[in-house]
Amino acid sequence: MSMFDTIIKNGCIVTMNGEREILNSSSLGIKDGKIAAIGKELGDNGSEIVDGAGHFILPGFVNTHTHVYQALIKGVGYDMHFNPWNIRYLVPIISKMNPRHARVSARLNAIEMIKSGTTSFSDHWYLHTDFDNIESVTEAFDQAGLRAQMIFGFLNESFAGRSDTSDSNQVLKEDGELLERASDFIKRRHGWNLTTVGLGPGSTEDVGTDLFKKIIKLGKSSHVPLVTHIAGWVEIVSRSMERYGMRDLEYAHSLGFTGENSIAIHGVWLSPDEIEILAETGTAVAHNPVANMHLGYGIAPIPEMLRAGVKVGLGSDGAASYTCDMLEIGKTAAMLQKVRKMDAEALTAEKTLEMLTLGGAAVLGQSGETGSLEVGKSADLIMIDRNRPHILSGGRAVPQILYSARGSDVVATMVNGKFLMKESKVLSLNEEEVIREAEVCRAELLEAGGEKTRSLLDAGWPVSGASWRGKNGKIS
Ligand SMILES: [Zn+2]
Repeated sequence: MSMFDTIIKNGCIVTMNGEREILNSSSLGIKDGKIAAIGKELGDNGSEIVDGAGHFILPGFVNTHTHVYQALIKGVGYDMHFNPWNIRYLVPIISKMNPRHARVSARLNAIEMIKSGTTSFSDHWYLHTDFDNIESVTEAFDQAGLRAQMIFGFLNESFAGRSDTSDSNQVLKEDGELLERASDFIKRRHGWNLTTVGLGPGSTEDVGTDLFKKIIKLGKSSHVPLVTHIAGWVEIVSRSMERYGMRDLEYAHSLGFTGENSIAIHGVWLSPDEIEILAETGTAVAHNPVANMHLGYGIAPIPEMLRAGVKVGLGSDGAASYTCDMLEIGKTAAMLQKVRKMDAEALTAEKTLEMLTLGGAAVLGQSGETGSLEVGKSADLIMIDRNRPHILSGGRAVPQILYSARGSDVVATMVNGKFLMKESKVLSLNEEEVIREAEVCRAELLEAGGEKTRSLLDAGWPVSGASWRGKNGKIS
């Protein structure tokens, strides 16, 4: 019998272990889904031997916040603030989503993630136009082989602060039904293969106080993460002050949302006192720099959070990033803070790589399984081909990975000891078939979006401002 199931030989291993060792010409032995050995001489006693020469081998990236359904409808709305992004662009289309669309969006996004080196992610699914949507998505990710944290989302009062259109009403559900479905979802899917479950009130403006408290109670009694959008856009802070006399995170904290198992998405508009609340309660932050930039939200105070000891991971968010390539998102995160602080050291390559791996794992409560290459942890890893003009051998590994490499340089992705992609070929899903299915589903959804969606697609080259403004410069 072989000592190892797989041996990856002679690579440059970026371990992200306690000492942050980077081991040249080293090998990694995998057995029963776990890393069993790392060293110079592991021999050839493995069922599968993979040549790692000329590759960086590193922990897979963790995407701490996505909305995968948006993968299907990229390229329609853009250059928009929070609203009209949500109401004018998303709602007319997504209010028509059915379980088949949901399944295909997950498969499509899974392929994008596998191909760009993401092994673990958290998807916030609030789109219960059909309660089978989230089931389809969960099953699709399981088939893809990814480590999936499925956040059962809640919207009861409004979507993106609005409840005045028939489309936006489609995505709102009754408190009782949401809680019952969520509780059942936890029982069936939490700990099912590589899937875990969390509970996600949309935001403090979309979910009323009574339901928010009940979600917190259910999450804490079920020991699953609580995840909500906090202080992402400046308007929500004003609204919270007006409604509750507190800032957004202060209000969520007053309801009992914060804690070691809680994640605040965005956290752009936080006061120093609120950063202190995050640090003291162990509440984590999912930082989505590209989406925050695209929607004009602002720049989250990441160096300040890290200095205060807040757990921070990186995320793509939905289509607002126009990518889920975590290397692009990591590079942007670092560059953004350097400019904001006028300080090239404000967010370093090393700190950013930590957020992409260890930090993300800590945010999702997966530090025991993933985020570093160490004996005993799950074999969640990627291989980056260095035989490219922009990442030659020599030079330090970390800046080459973070600043020069692209998701498309990832040639192998493994989760729990199983290759999901090898030699640039996705193995767990049929890529061509998924793309074909996605094109059909996308056409259906865009058609279902009606005139509102059609006008966004057909808008001419803008004379001034964004294309969606049309000829008279107003939202149609
Ligand atoms: Zn989001």
